[in-house]
Amino acid sequence: MISIKSHTEIEKLRKAGYITAGALDAAGSAIHAGMTTRELDRVVEKYITSHGAKPGFKGYGGFPAAACISVNDVVIHGIPGNYVIKEGDIVSVDTGAYINGYHGDSARTFAVGKISDEAERLLKSTQESLMIAVSMAAPGVRIGDLGAAIQKHNEDNGFGVVREFVGHGLGRDLHEDPEVPNFGKEGHGVRLREGMVICIEPMITAGDPAVRVLDDGWTVKTVDHSLAAHFEHAIAITKDGCMILSDPASY
Ligand code: MG
Ligand code: MG
Repeated sequence: MISIKSHTEIEKLRKAGYITAGALDAAGSAIHAGMTTRELDRVVEKYITSHGAKPGFKGYGGFPAAACISVNDVVIHGIPGNYVIKEGDIVSVDTGAYINGYHGDSARTFAVGKISDEAERLLKSTQESLMIAVSMAAPGVRIGDLGAAIQKHNEDNGFGVVREFVGHGLGRDLHEDPEVPNFGKEGHGVRLREGMVICIEPMITAGDPAVRVLDDGWTVKTVDHSLAAHFEHAIAITKDGCMILSDPASY
């Protein structure tokens, strides 16, 4: 069931999104070669708790940390740990602040120092595709329209679109209906309506889009070990477009 959020609920989601965005800013400022992914997770958690929120991911389905930190060929759901971040890595940080009963959820892939041209292009294409979908989102537009646009942009750039994991609705629960795939057909799927809150989150690979889940039950890697990028915004559908909930500039 797709819930339609009231103005009051959207304000609460905006607050959660604002703290989430700040936590990602903090991660982006702190990230450097030589730090572990666990240390980076602590930066995120400290930011969230010091702003009066709780890390919404910690304990969700048993996930042990405040952020999913996914390096290079890890697409999503990387568990922070002893990995030491290196110059040239691309590091995806996905997190959410939980406050007043509502979740934030946003992700960015950071470049650590000088990265390869391929990695640079992958990050650019993934982020561009997210913003294309955000710019389209409005009442009457279908979920399939968003997916088709994300798919086309990345495939035209020679990149792969992960099929097994998708975006979602957001609210009192971290994952609500509807599913928001990063692929699809124009004119298909649920029509967006004012008051819907969704997360759009392209997960894009430099090579083949096939992924596998490691034995830890979380870490999702590309099968061919190609690089992967992940950008995510939570948006609220408004009367004539949408509002990004996880962008400090739009607050
Ligand atoms: Mg996320
Ligand atoms: Mg999400």
